[in-house]
Amino acid sequence: MAPAELPDRARVVIIGGGIIGCSVAYHLAHMGWKDVVLLERDQLTCGTTWHAAGLIVSFGSFSETSTRMRVYTRELYDRLEAETGQATGFKATGFIEVASEPDRLEEYRRVSAFNRRCGVDVHEISPAEVAELFPLARTDDVLAGFYVEDDGRANPVDVTMALAKGARMQGARIVEGTPVVDVLHHGGRVTGVRTEQGDIECEYVVNCAGMWARQLGARSGVNIPLQSAEHYYLITERIPKLGPSWPVLEDPGSYGYFREEVGGLMLGLFEPVCAPWKVEGVPDDFSFGSLPPDWDRMTPYLEKAMARVPISMETGVKKFFCGPESFTPDLQPIVGEAPELANYFVAAGMNSIGILTGGGLGRLLAHWIIEGEPDVDVTGFDIARLHPYQANPDYRRTRTVESLGMVYQCHYPTRSLQTARGAKRSALHDRLVARRAHFRDVSGWEAPDWYAPPGALPEIGQLSWGRQHWFPYWAAEHRAAREGVIVMDMSFMAKFRVQGREAGTFLEQLSANRVDGEPGMITYTQWLNRRGTLEADLTVTKLDDGDYLVVASDTAHGHVAAWMKRHLGDAHAFVGDVTSGYAQLNVQGPRSRELLQAVTSADLSNEAFPFRCAREIDLGFARVLCIRITYLGELGYELYIPTEQAVHVYERLVAAGERVGLVHAGLEALASLRLEKAYRDYGHDIDNTDTVLEAGLGFAVAVDKPGGFIGRDAVLAQKAAGPLRKRLLQLLVTDPEPLMFHGEVVYRDGVSCGYVRAASYGHTLGGAVGLAMIEADEPIKAAWIDAGDWTIDIAGSRYPARASLRPLYDPRMERVRS
Ligand SMILES: Cc1cc2nc3c(=O)[nH]c(=O)nc-3n(C[C@H](O)[C@H](O)[C@H](O)COP(=O)(O)OP(=O)(O)OC[C@H]3O[C@@H](n4cnc5c(N)ncnc54)[C@H](O)[C@@H]3O)c2cc1C
Repeated sequence: MAPAELPDRARVVIIGGGIIGCSVAYHLAHMGWKDVVLLERDQLTCGTTWHAAGLIVSFGSFSETSTRMRVYTRELYDRLEAETGQATGFKATGFIEVASEPDRLEEYRRVSAFNRRCGVDVHEISPAEVAELFPLARTDDVLAGFYVEDDGRANPVDVTMALAKGARMQGARIVEGTPVVDVLHHGGRVTGVRTEQGDIECEYVVNCAGMWARQLGARSGVNIPLQSAEHYYLITERIPKLGPSWPVLEDPGSYGYFREEVGGLMLGLFEPVCAPWKVEGVPDDFSFGSLPPDWDRMTPYLEKAMARVPISMETGVKKFFCGPESFTPDLQPIVGEAPELANYFVAAGMNSIGILTGGGLGRLLAHWIIEGEPDVDVTGFDIARLHPYQANPDYRRTRTVESLGMVYQCHYPTRSLQTARGAKRSALHDRLVARRAHFRDVSGWEAPDWYAPPGALPEIGQLSWGRQHWFPYWAAEHRAAREGVIVMDMSFMAKFRVQGREAGTFLEQLSANRVDGEPGMITYTQWLNRRGTLEADLTVTKLDDGDYLVVASDTAHGHVAAWMKRHLGDAHAFVGDVTSGYAQLNVQGPRSRELLQAVTSADLSNEAFPFRCAREIDLGFARVLCIRITYLGELGYELYIPTEQAVHVYERLVAAGERVGLVHAGLEALASLRLEKAYRDYGHDIDNTDTVLEAGLGFAVAVDKPGGFIGRDAVLAQKAAGPLRKRLLQLLVTDPEPLMFHGEVVYRDGVSCGYVRAASYGHTLGGAVGLAMIEADEPIKAAWIDAGDWTIDIAGSRYPARASLRPLYDPRMERVRS
């Protein structure tokens, strides 16, 4: 294709003309940024988009952001033709998800209640109704279907062309036949792009290069660890009975989806064990390409899928198709501003749902670029969550085998990814193995989730939505923390040393709380953006003047590092990532002082070592930083130990622990303990869309501190605006039986008003406990809460609950300060 003449400069250059690049261009132009150029290497849609099956499905995700993006996408594709005159092929044929196993039925009942709350009109239907809507499906083993009348299908090429046309109509330029060979940057900021036809100077770059995004990013030092993999469908010869208006049928239990395609049946597959493609790199000239199918590998899955629509076994196959699609290590897209380079945005790694989320993702990214912040929860999507080692060929090759199949697995809440394990282990790993820890993947770390008692094996067994065999082990760990003392290996926490003459003022600027007071104090604080919503939730410990320790959760690691880097400017302050330098052991519970006092000469009495005190103490042959703080609501200490002394300290603690009944506890216990105390967890129950006041963290805001902080004006403005109508509440189900995980819809007086963002089982409170963001038309105050009749939908049944603004466990902090 003859390249068109390029402009010298543009405000935004988008790289890649698949569905995502065109959607970003469309939305930027619609939102008023018209000085946009999209550069496509070859022709629009020539990468992955051209061969997508075009399923447009809003049902099935436990993420509010993803669900709302799907609903928006469907609505956009429905109206694009009227706007642009370009057909999209969108047809609201309907969509049915079938459940033929009890656990899937439970999952879909849970997710359908949540999806309805997010605007999806989904209904459970009987097997007979499934048969009526899709008469060629076998339904004798079906337990139920979940039907969305407004969902359906679209033509991915036509939709992309319509988005491109809509973008052009608003003033954006789209240039085909122009590969970007490099992104130019200076001083840590994007300055332009290089093509064979010349450079374009620009302020922003958006890498929408699909499965090429990793290679392109690597040229600028930007980490985008996605990997392409084989993805299959076939199309049969004509089946006379099959109608074009039949709904899309999806049956994850048999790995298949089905829809009509030019009179035949399209049968698509999500096999549980899949095949990465071109780990070494996707060829630069791969266009409108397909891959040689490996039908030997696929036959068992295909046979199972065909059994759902038996006529497919007797009908000839017109087309076998295998094409590549990008997958990410955690099956979430890679979105946002690269931590490595300012104004370098990424939207890639679509995990087989780029068409059905593409409209929403383009809108989200355009908003993020224009406003400087996203307007939806992006904590699960943020590019900063990913780590450089995840781009290693061996890691990608290993993890991707599992990724595609995860789409159709039953999404049990305690499922942990099984591939590419053991990438990061704490210094105590082998000791904890010997203690029968069951590990789960925590940002690549092997972290103990629970411990099997002597004589039992730490095996997960059959996953379930109900109580699992290890429930009593977990309950015992929980009780030990409330009544005795536990030790927890938290070495995966993100730790930063911030030092320098202006380190204190720098951290004060970021922190809503006062963090630069007396040395030897830990402070719990949030970092806000200018809108006053949360960017981070962490602790800052002042070790000395000009010397601070910042500790955040593992999932926030990259974002916290990036936030500091972006705000550092010329300050005399230096940030060092010391995560690997310190092991972290948390010793918690009413007998924790007694235990620690037995292994140190430091005076740990309440007077000498009060709550929030941080001091270096002797412990055996080691010097450790001991901080009196808790994340589970008891008297407790966090020990930061030089990694090489971790085993020694651990051995001393365990030896002394014999006299006080020290118990090893895992992350399940951490979750149940902290949720009883209503302690927050960023990225789980609070996120970037919540203000610090809505999150119930106003107590940690020092509005009057000298010099202010980022977001202070927004906090003051929200305070001045009067009582809040959106607030995080703690909820306790009064029936001890049901379990909550995430997404359970909350009702006040029968009216849906929010959903549970994070939940666990409160072994002390005696029921499922969680945190839910509640929205109402009137002020949310204690009296309004107490006057309400609260219920929660759990897997289709309503259960009474208690709601509270104050923690239901130890609201007066007596245990913490004891
Ligand atoms: C068999 C199959 C079935 C699928 N079915 C569905 C479905 O039913 N529903 C659904 O939602 N999704 C489906 N998908 C997934 C969907 O196709 C993808 O998620 C989506 O197309 C990804 O879009 P993209 O824009 O990110 O990537 P692409 O479409 O690959 O676009 C990236 C573009 O970037 C260009 N590019 C790369 N490097 C450069 C460079 N250096 N300079 C300039 N341009 C560059 C490429 O040429 C390419 O056109 C399916 C995928 C497969 C394989």
